[in-house]
Amino acid sequence: AGRLQGKRCFVTAAGQGIGRAAALAFAAEGGSVVATDRDADKLQGLAAQGIETRALDALDDAAVAAAIAAAGPLDVLFNCAGFVHQNTIETCTQQDWDFAFGLNVRAMWQTIRAAIPGMLGQGGGSIVNMASACSSVKGAPNRFLYGTTKAAVIGLTKSVATDYVTKGIRCNAVCPGTVDTPSLGDRIAANAAQAGGLDAARQAFVARQAMGRLATAEEIAALVVYLAAPESQFVTGQAIVIDGGWTL
Ligand code: NAD
Repeated sequence: AGRLQGKRCFVTAAGQGIGRAAALAFAAEGGSVVATDRDADKLQGLAAQGIETRALDALDDAAVAAAIAAAGPLDVLFNCAGFVHQNTIETCTQQDWDFAFGLNVRAMWQTIRAAIPGMLGQGGGSIVNMASACSSVKGAPNRFLYGTTKAAVIGLTKSVATDYVTKGIRCNAVCPGTVDTPSLGDRIAANAAQAGGLDAARQAFVARQAMGRLATAEEIAALVVYLAAPESQFVTGQAIVIDGGWTL
């Protein structure tokens, strides 16, 4: 405990899954945390852990700027918001494309842009962006749009890291394999008919992981804490894979 003592931390999509686990882990390490999500109901329960909560749609530029200004200078920004389309280049629609690039990539531009002045003003900060092993690291079946956007996250991450490397601001990306979160349940349900049932659809995700299991959200949050905390201060611009051996 105490690795983020006195650090002001801001998390998008903190209502469930990896974002929620990270907000809780930041708080457990002494961070002063603002947890945001489009769905305010999902943030319930975090206040009892000493976490400030705020409804925030990461697609709303003005609301993002206002929320980050209200939070005060940030030490840590964790951009977790993202959506997984299951599609190929043939089934991807223009609407899917615009939505995924908006949420998975463009929203990071806006949050980081809003956070930079405060970070510069206090001599630095750590930005952690949610990418995926499915990105420029690895292709995955039926993840055309998702992999494309998450590759863009890695490029964005390296660009920000480069421009601020001498100014104390670090920027890294985390690249998980499959993580057991509520939205994975939705993807399993969507695949069930084709896979021959829910169990078979879940097993197909498990089978990809060389370790024979899915990650927990807490395991990914532990990497996010490391990248957020001063102990990783020599690490910037990296896309760190955490995937149970999927890319081995
Ligand atoms: P999830 O998909 O189960 O939950 C997503 C959360 O985001 C929800 O609380 C939802 O209300 C919120 N949200 C949705 N749209 C939003 C918006 N416009 N603004 C703010 N919040 C919004 O969570 P997860 O599976 O942990 O995924 C989180 C991130 O991790 C995503 O970027 C995802 O691509 C990435 N990721 C997930 C996995 C996985 O296997 N679950 C693997 C690699 C990367």
